[in-house]
Amino acid sequence: MKIYIDGTFYPEADAKISVFDHGLLYGDGIFEGIRFYNGRVFRLEEHLDRLFDSARAINLAIPMTKQELTEATLNTIRTNELRDGYVRLIITRGVGNLGLSPDRCNKPTVIIISGAIALYPEEMYEIGLNVITCSTRRIAPAALSPTVKSLNYLNNVIAKIEANQAGAAEGIMLNEQGFVAECTGDNVFALKRGTLLTPTIASGALRGITREVVIEMAADMGIPLREMQMTTYDLYTADECFLTGTAAEVIAMVRLDGRTIGDGKPGEVTRKFVERFRVLTQSSGTAIYE
Ligand code: PMP
Repeated sequence: MKIYIDGTFYPEADAKISVFDHGLLYGDGIFEGIRFYNGRVFRLEEHLDRLFDSARAINLAIPMTKQELTEATLNTIRTNELRDGYVRLIITRGVGNLGLSPDRCNKPTVIIISGAIALYPEEMYEIGLNVITCSTRRIAPAALSPTVKSLNYLNNVIAKIEANQAGAAEGIMLNEQGFVAECTGDNVFALKRGTLLTPTIASGALRGITREVVIEMAADMGIPLREMQMTTYDLYTADECFLTGTAAEVIAMVRLDGRTIGDGKPGEVTRKFVERFRVLTQSSGTAIYE
């Protein structure tokens, strides 16, 4: 696999950055995870918009235009001759010194890595996920907005470890007030008496691209949607729950904190979203090869 770093492609073994890069020293940087299916990149523009928003929010000037980054992304996939996979864009503050201040970081580092994606095994989509509520709270927006997709994922990593140690595949993260924010790497939805519920972005969720797609699909399907402050009660008592994310796509959550959600199987509406999402990813997106 060839890795893009600042305009040059390197073999994996030679794809290296400085130990003085503030992306490593301080998690100072941003990223995007993007999928491509059947030779097309899914929602590339939306991902790049979010990347540039993340950059602006942390006062980082990406040293490329959106168009240049689009081309670099497509070129990375082309160079690796891939049609289905995952592409990770990383922009770090760049090489500086050991000091916290980015004053000495003259140029952000741009890294693009493409490859295969480790999805949940197919049987997880058939049976649904067992999830716990993590004791680790989602970082407060006043500390670092969860809408910034930053390289500072330690909050999520700790919560993910907690979920995994409890034998769960994902973990629900609450905000400081105790309202549901999102999962460690996914957004969450509940279906209750025909209405789709999801936490507001202000609850401490990433503005998930898959979340936005599900909201659009719900409108197409005539399913009413409420973005609201939610507690675990809303998830425990839902008829169906599912998680959304670029890597996970749409996947049912059938158990939470030892409670069975609905009848304990992926629900009918969840299955429709899973199916529609798969059709959409196979049939839309930015063409890589023509
Ligand atoms: N929340 C967090 C914390 C995430 O890391 C992700 C994955 N990017 C998501 C939600 C889902 O967002 P998306 O649908 O854009 O992948």
